[in-house]
Amino acid sequence: MQRRTKIVATLGPVSTNPEVLAKLMTAGCDVFRLNFSHGSGEKLIELANQVREIADSLGRTVGILADLQGPKIRIGKFTDGKIALKTGDKFILDAKCELGNQERVGLDYKELPNDVGPGSILLLDDGRIVLHVDQVRGSEVYTTVEAGGPLSNNKGINRRGGGLTAPPLTEKDMLDIRVAAAMKADYLAVSFPRSGSDMQFARELLRVAGGQSRLVAKIERAEAIPALDDILKASDGIMVARGDLAVEVGDAAVPGLQKKMIRAARERNRLVITATQMMESMISSPVPTRAEVSDVANAVLDGTDAVMLSAETAVGEYPVETVASMARVCVEAEKEQGPALERRRGLQHAANTEEAIAQAVVFACETLDIKAVASLTQSGMTPLLISRKGPEVPVYALTPLTETRRRVSLFRGVYPVMFEHASDDPEVVLDAAEDELQKRGAVKIGDYIIITIGEPFHKAGGTNTMKIIRVGEHRSPAGG
Ligand code: PGA
Ligand code: MN
Repeated sequence: MQRRTKIVATLGPVSTNPEVLAKLMTAGCDVFRLNFSHGSGEKLIELANQVREIADSLGRTVGILADLQGPKIRIGKFTDGKIALKTGDKFILDAKCELGNQERVGLDYKELPNDVGPGSILLLDDGRIVLHVDQVRGSEVYTTVEAGGPLSNNKGINRRGGGLTAPPLTEKDMLDIRVAAAMKADYLAVSFPRSGSDMQFARELLRVAGGQSRLVAKIERAEAIPALDDILKASDGIMVARGDLAVEVGDAAVPGLQKKMIRAARERNRLVITATQMMESMISSPVPTRAEVSDVANAVLDGTDAVMLSAETAVGEYPVETVASMARVCVEAEKEQGPALERRRGLQHAANTEEAIAQAVVFACETLDIKAVASLTQSGMTPLLISRKGPEVPVYALTPLTETRRRVSLFRGVYPVMFEHASDDPEVVLDAAEDELQKRGAVKIGDYIIITIGEPFHKAGGTNTMKIIRVGEHRSPAGG
């Protein structure tokens, strides 16, 4: 069975050499995340080119997700690289401190002392260290350690409940948006947005830089939760960024929020990636834990488009094994999926012709034994809309456009196919599309398939037609 859920793998030191990249693709990676928190402009552009060259040599289509660092607030460095904090210790975060020690450490965001007060809870290193703020004096935040442990250079800081004022796009992000445009990233992820207007701002910068990337909002601030609908409207997709989100809203709230976010994204015809610690133990183990297997499977059952790997493929010992395990778990979970979640909502009001066609396609798939859908598309919109309705049959996005093929590699249950036709004659084009599916072994003579097209062909425009065809029947004399 073909896997429907897509896999996003973050690239890092262990995965950027050509052999490992090829193995990751063969193991099932669909989209590569380039993390702008590590690495600089030219190097990342070279890496994106390398990824695409290797994909081409393997006959694969993969997407590139450029992930901006965003205003992650961090502590500074320590004289000895790290310290150990014990529960009950006093510790000072000091915006003026240069090099830290057992008593205090510096801050990269100098405004932090203005954003907190007595009683604030600060979480360091993804929540591993918990600090209770006792008082603020000038540049110094005096705290008591509520949960201790080792603390090393440049670890992140979050405030429980959110409310830190750092603006969403830093100087570095603005430069990196130009890099993302230059590398023709298929997706651009914006870190820590608070509202739809944060996303609009990023979109405007991208447009000015000449970029075509689709925008993914990382939902990782407490403020983003009440603003979810506003953010969805201004974005092409979201990431359930469980690392920072858990720290801000409390870890126990995240599983419920994940389900809500996935549902909301799909209802708005947006994409959704579920991220962070999905296979965390595989950083140093060749097999996942039972809990990790369940976590990946549950994200699949929730309806996510993609599951994402971070440190597992960037710095882990078993990057290829991790992707292979994830792929195996996705396929198995999809068998249990049952009727599309969307079906329970019944038929929806369609916003436009394309959406009405998408509904009709999925309805037909359920009432007739359809083996595949072939969607002739320019922008990828029709395959996206069909995919949002959660069909159980594969949707092939047939397009001559490389950018579109790369883009759809993130869509659940959608597979890119290179397809070029010179003819204006619908019968010739439909035969060619049918041949293409047969050539891939997706269908055989006698199978029912659905083809969606926009007619007339010579006029660019949205999909307005669906045809149910039996493979091998009604061939035009020219067809082969
Ligand atoms: P990050 O985002 O890996 O860039 O921090 C994901 C998350 O916070 O979960
Ligand atoms: Mn994050």
